[in-house]
Amino acid sequence: MSENYDVVIIGSGAGGGTLAYALADSGKRILLLERGDFLPRELDNWDPKPVFVDGKYISADTWYDQDGKAFQPQVHYFVGGATKLYGAALYRLRPKDFGELKHVSGISPAWPLSYDDFEPWYSKAERLYQVHGNGGEDPTEGYRSEPYPWPAVSHEARIQELCDDLAKGGYHPFHAPCGIMLDEANRPNSSCIRCAWCDGYPCLVHAKADAEVIAVRPLLDYPNVTLLTGAEVTKLETDDAGRTVTGVVVSRHGQREVYQGDIVAISAGAANSAKILLNSANDSHPHGLANGSDQVGRNYMAHNCKAIVSLSKEKNDTVYQKTLGINDFYFATKDYQWPMGNIQMLGKSNAEAMRGEQPEKTMFAPEWTLSDVAEHAVDWWLTTEDLPVPENRVTTDKDGNVHLTYSSTNIEEEDRLYAELKVVLNHVGMAAHHVLRKKFYMDMDVPLAACAHQAGTCRFGTDPATSVLDVNCKAHEVDNLYVVDTSFFPSIGAVNPGLTAIANALRVGDHLLGRMA
Ligand SMILES: Cc1cc2nc3c(=O)[nH]c(=O)nc-3n(C[C@H](O)[C@H](O)[C@H](O)COP(=O)(O)OP(=O)(O)OC[C@H]3O[C@@H](n4cnc5c(N)ncnc54)[C@H](O)[C@@H]3O)c2cc1C
Ligand code: SF4
Repeated sequence: MSENYDVVIIGSGAGGGTLAYALADSGKRILLLERGDFLPRELDNWDPKPVFVDGKYISADTWYDQDGKAFQPQVHYFVGGATKLYGAALYRLRPKDFGELKHVSGISPAWPLSYDDFEPWYSKAERLYQVHGNGGEDPTEGYRSEPYPWPAVSHEARIQELCDDLAKGGYHPFHAPCGIMLDEANRPNSSCIRCAWCDGYPCLVHAKADAEVIAVRPLLDYPNVTLLTGAEVTKLETDDAGRTVTGVVVSRHGQREVYQGDIVAISAGAANSAKILLNSANDSHPHGLANGSDQVGRNYMAHNCKAIVSLSKEKNDTVYQKTLGINDFYFATKDYQWPMGNIQMLGKSNAEAMRGEQPEKTMFAPEWTLSDVAEHAVDWWLTTEDLPVPENRVTTDKDGNVHLTYSSTNIEEEDRLYAELKVVLNHVGMAAHHVLRKKFYMDMDVPLAACAHQAGTCRFGTDPATSVLDVNCKAHEVDNLYVVDTSFFPSIGAVNPGLTAIANALRVGDHLLGRMA
């Protein structure tokens, strides 16, 4: 089979799904190729055992580490990609993240565009993904051309208490930006029911602003948009000169199919986009498509993340906990010369998910059952920037499989942020030794596998010798090839990457509309 489209988009997650949405009204013929299927709506969506203990929605993919040892990456192949499971914490990068920042392990390089260049796209992205927030509370945030489209999600009583105690302690807690369709002023008609099954779970009632619900589903009736599921792109073919992609090769239901697009946009996630390019080597591109710079697959980043449970004597009966953030340690402080990162809340612990990992007994209450621990738990998510290092990279073997070589950077900053959190907890009545690692949220024992925040591998820039993509995310070496997922990040900052991927897809979409006009 060979069919021609104006645009072929590979992957339907934050980048690809949003790009399809941005282009759909143009009437151009768009083909969206997604290797996964629609995620089923079933009670298991909101059950911690299948989701966290059994890993029901983690794809049965096999990647290999630098020693050739196989592991199962925590990736999600569905319409909507990783956003089906994401926590919908939709942060903008800070303005300083777009410049060069010095870290303990080296330099976080400047982007070729500034925060001001991205600001209009962040505003559009927040409108599209219905982000709830309250500008002006977080001292590190950048200029906003418009307020958040929705009021911040309110804190429940225990979190409000924490927020008040933090403010009394001199910190600057803020309402975290959340992409959930919650209408607190009109709860009977709110799509979101404010439940405890959001962060790391699919939303059973389709009220999370994920790429399937926000971007792809609204296009299903468009006559000019075709979505093919179960369509795994295996390689791209080019003309003899290597300047134009002429064929998108797909494996679907065990068959080989080839599609053509005047424009081809890869958005398969940072590792898989690199995989497709590397597996598309040909005579004109012997080291992989668009890889004359040898940068494809390099500079893989994944954030240094810690999931933490702190225990207090008071019960924490919060249902939706992800409402608070702290950026007091995002950059250097007067006591520490390096940036440390972001602190935010995680979805609330429950005994069922904890049972999957059997946490160590606490000195605080050795007699407590897991239910007691879960009832008193307050859950935190710490993110420290991870630097783009050329040696941290995706390669493929002769069978086309992903090999991931990765060592964390900025560990000292990550440890310092954890230490700062313990000090913070002392201010809010939770002593430092009442803190546990919450491993079930992401399997921290296999750091390679925890690739939820994967980025890098095809960075954008102005110099073809050191970057894969130009500032419009077009491959320097190929005239009709774009990469529109988190691969383009030259650095990752220390906030969740989703909103930046979405904003960039809208930006690139606008460029493509101009190009095709
Ligand atoms: C548990 C979890 C929690 C998270 N929480 C947050 C959060 O709170 N806030 C935030 O900002 N970010 C969060 N993230 C990260 C966020 O979801 C990702 O940064 C974002 O989805 C990346 O977008 P992307 O387009 O690069 O990739 P994805 O959204 O993963 O999309 C890639 C798509 O490509 C498809 N694909 C892959 N290979 C192929 C192929 N060969 N052919 C065809 N299709 C292919 C995949 O199936 C997938 O649909 C979280 C992620 C996880 C897993
Ligand atoms: S909190 Fe709202 S958006 Fe999140 S899973 Fe529950 S109903 Fe869905």
